[in-house]
Amino acid sequence: MEEVIINSQHHFLIRSKLLLPLPLNPLFDGAMEIKDKKITRIGRYKELKKEVNKAKFIDLEDLILMPVLTNAHLHLELSALRFRLSSTGKFTLWVRQLLKKRESLTPLDITESARIASQELLREGIGIIGEITNSALTVEILKDLPFCGYIFQEIISFKGNYTLKELKEFNPHYKITYSPHAPYTVSPLLLQAIKAYNQRRKKIFTLHCAESQEEIEFIKTGKGPIAELLKERGQWNESFAPPKVSPVKYLDTLGLLDDKTLLVHALYLEEEDFQILSKKQVGVCLCPRSNLFTGAGFPNLPKLLSHKIKVVLGTDSLASNDRLSLFEEIKTLYSFYPDTSPITLLKIATSEGATFLGFENYGTLKEGSYANFIALSTSTSLSNSIDKALEEFILSEKEIKYRFYAGFYE
Ligand SMILES: [Zn+2]
Repeated sequence: MEEVIINSQHHFLIRSKLLLPLPLNPLFDGAMEIKDKKITRIGRYKELKKEVNKAKFIDLEDLILMPVLTNAHLHLELSALRFRLSSTGKFTLWVRQLLKKRESLTPLDITESARIASQELLREGIGIIGEITNSALTVEILKDLPFCGYIFQEIISFKGNYTLKELKEFNPHYKITYSPHAPYTVSPLLLQAIKAYNQRRKKIFTLHCAESQEEIEFIKTGKGPIAELLKERGQWNESFAPPKVSPVKYLDTLGLLDDKTLLVHALYLEEEDFQILSKKQVGVCLCPRSNLFTGAGFPNLPKLLSHKIKVVLGTDSLASNDRLSLFEEIKTLYSFYPDTSPITLLKIATSEGATFLGFENYGTLKEGSYANFIALSTSTSLSNSIDKALEEFILSEKEIKYRFYAGFYE
């Protein structure tokens, strides 16, 4: 992968065989004019070449051009656990393995593996991230890298004794805030306090939700493998009364759901949950390959889309995935749901996530956005019909040949 840094002196007209200016429609023989680090025009090359003067022409020939991808949910600090956990078919067994193996990691293991994984994110074409940190070790790694996105300081405290302090931001590319781990690991009052903290600062409030059957059992009955785990770990909260509803309804009752809430996983949803999420414009971040690995289940993408729920995508961590690739995630979704339109999947992996996180100027290709994009080749040549070509693109092996950066370095 060759890296190209676009600065304010550059004036380019870039053409490629297939341009995917997501969220706009794909174009064969498409081109973009880039001036002052931003995209100033997008259209067919034939037309743009007549209108654009004095720009340096770059022909990317048969490559496919698209925005950087958005990985809206990952935990770089678990990268040292890649290939160290086995797929047990049961979520809480996977959690037990994770807790045990994590204890043996040193701070050096964590930082070095996170450093390597962050480079992998760049090579996978990922530009916008939603990183969940526990120790804040990854902040040091990310702050000098050309990503945008959120760094969420994760809170786990079912007893609810945690003091929220003002978190400092260090540059405009990263928003930093708190994120509760899940409805079963954070007390109801603390969940509300974190939401209020985020609301006051206009930040995204994100948490794992409805990820496993064990979670449903716990929220409905207060019993089961999750209750046992909490007790073993000294996290049992005597005053917790099981709400006896679905996790989504529970969070709704606490007043936590709105268009700045992002629920991660959302596998186990009841009919009414779909309606609540749709009505309140709550975002859902799917991590399908992680769900298969942990044995939690598989997300119902068609139903989420039919309820017009905003869907974005993440890889989760390398403790439950072998790649940090959004292309692998959409390939998996497409193989489960072949009736999903390829363009919808590509938007979910790019512009939908970037827009939800508030970084559309870095993660979409439209006039006014920074020229952050990738140019790829595919293992198979693509058809001349757009729909067919996009399907072939999703299923093919891809190689990122160039990565263009703008808005990070001068
Ligand atoms: Zn996660």
